[in-house]
Parts: sequence; structure tokens; C-alpha cells
Amino acid sequence: MNFFLIKNKQNSKKIIDLGDGIKIGGNNFSIISGPCAVENEEQIELAAKALSGMGVNILRGGAFKPRTSPYTFQGLGLEGLKLLKKAGQRNNMKVISEIMDPRDLNTSYDYVDIFQIGSRNMHNYTLLKEIGKFDKPVLLKRGMAATLEEWLMAAEYIASEGNDNIILCERGIRTFETYTRNTLDLTIVPIIKELTNLPIIIDPSHGTGRKELVRPVTRAAVAIGADGVMIETHPNPCEALSDGNQSLDFDEMKEVIFDVESIQKCICKLNN
Ligand code: PEP
Ligand code: MN
Repeated sequence: MNFFLIKNKQNSKKIIDLGDGIKIGGNNFSIISGPCAVENEEQIELAAKALSGMGVNILRGGAFKPRTSPYTFQGLGLEGLKLLKKAGQRNNMKVISEIMDPRDLNTSYDYVDIFQIGSRNMHNYTLLKEIGKFDKPVLLKRGMAATLEEWLMAAEYIASEGNDNIILCERGIRTFETYTRNTLDLTIVPIIKELTNLPIIIDPSHGTGRKELVRPVTRAAVAIGADGVMIETHPNPCEALSDGNQSLDFDEMKEVIFDVESIQKCICKLNN
């Protein structure tokens, strides 16, 4: 494989600086959390408040939703991004949201701290190149049927336009297994560490599709050396307009954070 812009440079692990002391990569383990989609002002504010109270400082919330059916909730669009930003500002959190259409990049720019490229758009080369022209960090999810090489080349598309502030996110791939929504490829973490200098985080929510698996998978993500996790949470998962089955409530999220901190301590001991 020929990687040019994102190839591993010894001792130069990429650290994504979001400002206000919030960084992804290096020695940080980042916890990104929030609802699958921004649904209304009250929902995103409740999420931001609860999560920031637990020490989470990056809030997620989809506004442009890539839904399987065109007849289900498609997200609030720009209005959703504005609500996300407002909730983030009120609770001292950075915010991340998916952009699907290059035409939305300019208008979205002021409302997000990280642009997210979703699994379905990892192969959208027009979007990758356009996002590469911006100076904002990009979280690039692995395509649901993408090989390692295809995924890294997608990152190269972004970097080749000048923006190498890229965070990779493993969110599972399609296999013959249907019990889980996807098959989460944790093996990719040490491989990415070997081949690139980019941070990689794990998405246990989309990676499994089942809330009861989020906690054990998050434990594994910390242990295998990921730079963080992105976990879907909702004030009332049963009533979520999307991905309620894989969303945690805030009490469950607290338990996950407790685990992360405990396992980090064990890992520190192992490394010393
Ligand atoms: C998401 O994170 O909101 C999402 C749609 O995930 P993915 O692109 O991994 O399916
Ligand atoms: Mn989702």
C-alpha cells in the first residue's frame, strides 16, 4: 500500500486540537456522546447537560441523517446544527455532526467543531475532496464494506486537498452475521496505529446495534489502544426517532465512563 500524506511518521502521532484544551489523539482517551439525531431543543439540551456533568466534552448529534428509508425522520438539517451548537456552547462542549452533501459544508462550518463523514459516504470522493479544502477536523467513518486500504485511501483524498486533521472511526463492517447490526473490527486499531499517525476511535453503538453490547465493547476499545469512543445516548432511548435500540440512557452511560477510567488505570500500570 502506498500512503503518502498520512503515512506513519515516527514519534509524530497526530493530535487533533479542538481548542479550550480539548484534544483527540496522543495520550487522550476521548469520549464523544449524544443522540443519534438532534430531535428538538429540549432533547439535545438534556443530553448535553447530563453528559457534560459526567465529564464528556464532545457532543454528537446528527442533523443530516442518512436513513435507509426516505420515509423516516431525516434530521432537522441546519436547524438541528444550530440547536446542537447552542447546547454545546451552554455546556462547554465541542460538537460533531455528519455532513452528507458538499453543498452544506459552507453553511455548516460555523456550527460544528468536527465534520463527520458517515459510513455510507466514505466512498463519496467529491465530498472527501471538498471537505479536504476546509481547515476543520474531520471524523472519517469506515465504509460498511470498505477494506483497510479503501478506508485509508479515503483519508488520503481528504489529506491530499490540504486537511490532514483526520480522526478515523471504526463502526463495524457487514459480514454474514446478522445478530449484531455490524461486525466490529477491533483488530483494525493496532493495524491503523502501525500504518498511520492518525487517531482512531471506536463506535460501539453502530458497531453492534445493541445497547447491551456497548459496555463490553467499550472496555475492549480502551484495552486495545483506541483513542476514544463515540457512543449514542438519549434522554429516553425508547422514544428516540432513530437508533433507540443501540442508545444508552444516562445512567448506563455513567457506568461506561466508570469502566473506561478503571481500564485506563490498568493499562497505565501495564505500560509502566
Ligand atoms: C452516525 O454516526 O450517525 C451514523 C449514521 O453512523 P454510520 O455512518 O457509522 O452508519
Ligand atoms: Mn445512529
